[in-house]
Amino acid sequence: MRGPSHVVFGLAGAVVIASATHVAGPSLFGGAPATIDLLAEKVIFYGFAALGALTPDIDNARSTLGQKLGPISRGIQHLAGHRTFFHSLVGLGVVGAIVWAAQYALGLALFHFGLINTGEALGSGINLAGFLAPGVGIAFAGLLIGYFLHLVADSLTEGGVPWLWPSRVRYGFPPSRHLRFKTGTVWELIIVVAISVAVIVGIVFGRLGV
Ligand SMILES: [Zn+2]
Repeated sequence: MRGPSHVVFGLAGAVVIASATHVAGPSLFGGAPATIDLLAEKVIFYGFAALGALTPDIDNARSTLGQKLGPISRGIQHLAGHRTFFHSLVGLGVVGAIVWAAQYALGLALFHFGLINTGEALGSGINLAGFLAPGVGIAFAGLLIGYFLHLVADSLTEGGVPWLWPSRVRYGFPPSRHLRFKTGTVWELIIVVAISVAVIVGIVFGRLGV
């Protein structure tokens, strides 16, 4: 699936997951007054979900993200190959751990230099209070959700995804690859538009919340 399709698919899926789990706080249209803080949380959550939806294609130098990263993506593609480690549950776990460690280190550094002093900086590690609080936790959740949805989206394509890498077996849905669509074809557009319309209808009728 192409970059823009991944972003739309990731955002639509993030709306569904956030509606079910309230990971990004209460709905903007849920009756409670929409504060600036809540609005900021939503922007952070969906922004990072979009970023996460592009991240696995870091292993493809021609992808939306790969073109931005240039030599980094070319190196990764050369070493690992497209749709290998980064398109697997192991990749999701490792990238998640790196991002978590980075935000924890950032929190510690800010705490150390006295830029945050709530003490909660050393708490859960996810919710680094005082700095984008609780945005960092929401950013982390958004990124992982977007990443996961990228793997789901690619599973709908002919090529499938090696979910259980280092096993090279690729999985997809439907199981028969002949029933799946080819990346970049009109079917990709139709499926992404259909999912978006379904989510928008869900929001309009109050079944889903942003
Ligand atoms: Zn991909």
